[in-house]
Amino acid sequence: MTSVEPAEKLLSPVLSASWDDTRPWTLATYRRYDGYKGLQAALAMPPDDVIALVKDSGLRGRGGAGFPTGMKWQFIPQNDGKPHYLVVNADESEPGTCKDIPLLFANPHSLIEGMIIASYAIRCDHAFIYLRGEVVPVLRRLHAAVAEAYQAGYLGRNILGSGIDLDITVHAGAGAYICGEETALLDSLEGRRGQPRLRPPFPAIAGLYACPTVVNNVESIASVPPILARGKDWFKSLGTEKSPGFTLYSLSGHVTNPGQYEAPLGITLRQLLEISGGIRAGHRLKFWTPGGSSTPMFTDEHLDVPLDYEAVGAAGSMLGTKALQIFDETTCVVRAVTRWTEFYAHESCGKCTPCREGTYWLVQLLKRIEAGEGVEGDLEKLADIADNINGKSFCALGDGAASPIASSLKYFRAEYEQHLAERRCPFDPAAATVWA
Ligand code: NAD
Ligand code: SF4
Repeated sequence: MTSVEPAEKLLSPVLSASWDDTRPWTLATYRRYDGYKGLQAALAMPPDDVIALVKDSGLRGRGGAGFPTGMKWQFIPQNDGKPHYLVVNADESEPGTCKDIPLLFANPHSLIEGMIIASYAIRCDHAFIYLRGEVVPVLRRLHAAVAEAYQAGYLGRNILGSGIDLDITVHAGAGAYICGEETALLDSLEGRRGQPRLRPPFPAIAGLYACPTVVNNVESIASVPPILARGKDWFKSLGTEKSPGFTLYSLSGHVTNPGQYEAPLGITLRQLLEISGGIRAGHRLKFWTPGGSSTPMFTDEHLDVPLDYEAVGAAGSMLGTKALQIFDETTCVVRAVTRWTEFYAHESCGKCTPCREGTYWLVQLLKRIEAGEGVEGDLEKLADIADNINGKSFCALGDGAASPIASSLKYFRAEYEQHLAERRCPFDPAAATVWA
């Protein structure tokens, strides 16, 4: 991939290839795009070979952490006499992240086919989709697609005459961000209040109903059928050596054309902006997130950082969910960070003290700074509280809450100081349309 190529050529529509077609969510359209060919290839192989193929393809989890998918499947103990489960995490709710929901809405069969392949590989006969409950149109579409798959013989007993069985249950969550954390999700699915469990044991050993469970993100599982159908070498020919393949980036905020862009891992924000029409007219980039608000923010210095796990990590952030939230120079960074922190304080499950108490105090401090009522020492206090949350909380929500504080202080300390010195917000709130 070089910048002399026409920008649009850098896109690699695979999961999104059919999105503009007629009724892409139907089985008929999905089949026209080679749908269920990956399943046929998988059923012709022993389950362990399917795991090996996915492992060798280098596919990494698309939910945020980038854990190797095939390795996660391989952790499931075999011949242990226990049921095995596959649980798909469709509780997408990281601020700025909008890829799994559009994928499910447009192309639910890609997930269902991936689930059948994954279930075959890990020897599971009951799989679950834990969907964010608010997205009722997606819930209906998923139910319809699952029913279609049963009718066509892709689900139920003796799938395509292979002798294997699989049932899929679609479960609608009640809208708590913490239920996207895999163990809180499992508790919620079991009918309890969703709060994170201590890991280890990881779900691969003791997950749903204390049985070996693979928990994978929607996009991770939907990426499996094309790998089976087209081969691992094709997949590895896209992306970078350590972060191979295609992926969905969600572009939002002060850009001309927000939306989902599917491209190989390793594309840069500069290239994605070229493809998508750039920052809104007359404005310039101020800061952005590579993977939602839980990832440390970047500035215009980072426009050429390849968006893959290694390069983003080396530049001091995380690729996370690939939610590129773009903010131009009209945005008050203190206001943006305050809004994110309010979200984390509201969504904190309350189980551990650093997160429960720390996010509350961060909001109090940020609000008074933003209102021009901050006092000397507030910035040190902010940094200190964030430091006492980061790495000291029970789950990743706490780290995510600390991350915008630390990175905004790193890049925009002068703007915080301006709020303190001028005893007001230097930005005209009317100009910050993102909050309107
Ligand atoms: P993690 O790195 O702890 O785990 C990643 C996955 O690998 C998990 O499924 C875990 O069970 C598995 N794993 C890790 N080590 C293992 C081991 N030794 N044995 C067996 N399995 C093992 O990350 P996490 O806490 O699960 O997730 C954090 C990520 O979630 C963040 O990077 C963030 O970007 C992302 N996130 C996503 C959303 C969203 O809406 N998609 C929301 C919030 C956060
Ligand atoms: Fe709950 Fe926050 Fe602690 Fe996670 S870090 S367990 S969300 S209180």
